[in-house]
Amino acid sequence: MEVRVKNVRKEFDRYPALHDLSLDIRSGELIALLGPSGSGKTTLLRLIAGLDFPTEGAIYFGDEDASLKSVQERNIGFVFQHYALFKHMSVLDNIGFGLKVRPRSTRPPKAEIRSRALELLDLVQLKGLENRFPSQLSGGQRQRVALARALAIEPTVLLLDEPFGALDAQVRKGLRRWLREIHEKTGHTTIFVTHDQQEALELADRVVVMSQGKIEQVGGPDEVYDHPNSATVFSFIGESARLPVTIDKGQVYLAGRTLGLDSKGVAGRSGTLFFRPHDVQIVENDEASIVGTVVGTRRTEGTRQVELEVDGTRDRVEIEIPADHPATQKTRIAFRPKKWSVFEN
Ligand code: ADP
Ligand code: MG
Repeated sequence: MEVRVKNVRKEFDRYPALHDLSLDIRSGELIALLGPSGSGKTTLLRLIAGLDFPTEGAIYFGDEDASLKSVQERNIGFVFQHYALFKHMSVLDNIGFGLKVRPRSTRPPKAEIRSRALELLDLVQLKGLENRFPSQLSGGQRQRVALARALAIEPTVLLLDEPFGALDAQVRKGLRRWLREIHEKTGHTTIFVTHDQQEALELADRVVVMSQGKIEQVGGPDEVYDHPNSATVFSFIGESARLPVTIDKGQVYLAGRTLGLDSKGVAGRSGTLFFRPHDVQIVENDEASIVGTVVGTRRTEGTRQVELEVDGTRDRVEIEIPADHPATQKTRIAFRPKKWSVFEN
């Protein structure tokens, strides 16, 4: 089912949690809402689910105004960060719950609920655990059961609110891939909320970057990573480094030296240059290079990052260099073309 959010504003006691937000979610896509804590992700999910209502604006399911539908009629599958499994029910009963509580006219027969629950158990790769209770499962297994339960009702939309947020990094990584596979098999329109950019980039067809109740950018993972449209998105997605620059006649200057970069229409005389640490190369001689001194190194995954002091200014910048690069040596660096952005301060 296609979901359209149209000019939605949500206030809590006059505090605007969402500002005039619009978003079209395509039928069958997996979209990630990505943003820091407090950016309004859960609020938006609750409005879509019908657990709360917009102060202004509307939400459509297909062509239908969702406000005309109750929570039940919306037929939403929901998975939260904190396992909401029923402790006193077996895994199988948990999965079948949504079907069991349906009004008699739409409730499938008992045997069918059981076979459907077993099928889903198989889908989430927990075959054989049907008689266990939630307390006998690991955190990751519980979230798989929660997903199976959400899928049992054949949801029009599947809403996942930081479903892996409470799990450790290793388990989370595995579940990410697993969820993507399940999505490809079942094809439900899915909205996945996370504050983890890696999770969003790896999982989603499109990423919606949110900040302070607004959408900053919507695009495919490559688009938001390679072409962030604001300083906020650049800083939030992936590793980023920045340096203050001045702008004159469309050229970008760092500590008085032109970088040979075009300011892409930034108004004003000063801005901030954003780039990825790995988009800087150490070069022997280059017109457009800048010279800095390596002042320290910091170990990170796979590479070493250095802090570079550029042209005597106290601005330090992290770039990636080979582990054996000597410290306190003057080093020429250059930016890979098209891999940087300048934004107004
Ligand atoms: P996120 O899920 O991105 O962390 P939320 O949607 O939970 O963000 O919250 C967005 C903003 O709205 C926050 O500032 C939060 O404090 C506020 N907020 C959310 N729910 C309520 C509520 N029921 N009453 C008052 N303020 C709320
Ligand atoms: Mg939240």
